[in-house]
Amino acid sequence: EVADLRQEIEITRREAATDGLTGLANRKRFDITLRDTAAEMMEAGDEMCLLMLDIDFFKKFNDNYGHQTGDQVLKLLAITLNECIKGQDTAARYGGEEFGVILPNTSLNSAVILAENIRERVSRKSIINKSTGEQLGAITLSIGVSKYEFGEPLNELIARADTALYAAKNQGRNKVLSELDMVMPPASAQN
Ligand code: GH3
Ligand code: MG
Ligand code: MG
Repeated sequence: EVADLRQEIEITRREAATDGLTGLANRKRFDITLRDTAAEMMEAGDEMCLLMLDIDFFKKFNDNYGHQTGDQVLKLLAITLNECIKGQDTAARYGGEEFGVILPNTSLNSAVILAENIRERVSRKSIINKSTGEQLGAITLSIGVSKYEFGEPLNELIARADTALYAAKNQGRNKVLSELDMVMPPASAQN
């Protein structure tokens, strides 16, 4: 009975950390993993990066094809994310149609390459409604990338990825930008 109970507790614990729709880490586990990984990386002196991803024009997709089809797209995206990351990485549903990926032991350059790989792979997938055979085209992602500065508050790390993400939206979407792209060019480089 004790063994059964232990197993039940373990299942409940895992469910509490998992997003019900996509099976990815939920927001709670994202926050905990980000905090724990940041502490580990700081102790070891290793780099950590963060991707924030947001589906482009997803409201329109839902309006066109319905919320349930939209949900299927979120599931499909979760599968693609899992295909693109390695064992120590964490892909999470940050909220709605927004996702976060925590990348321990990863330089900013490598994180941008991975983000670009995800972006490309998603944009190439043509979505088909399985029950009707209808072609729904593709969805695209905008992605922002930031790198952890040892000791900084984690909301600053998230905010830099978010800023890059919204710049990617403004630059036309289906695009990856990193915090380095946010640096203002020197006055001499303008015009
Ligand atoms: P943008 O390119 O600026 O991100 O445009 P957008 O339409 O994706 O952005 P907006 O924030 O206006 O809309 C997000 C939409 O995502 C609205 C909502 O219908 C959809 N969405 C959020 N969560 C879910 C979900 O769990 N399932 C489905 N099907 N849609 C969702
Ligand atoms: Mg959004
Ligand atoms: Mg969106």
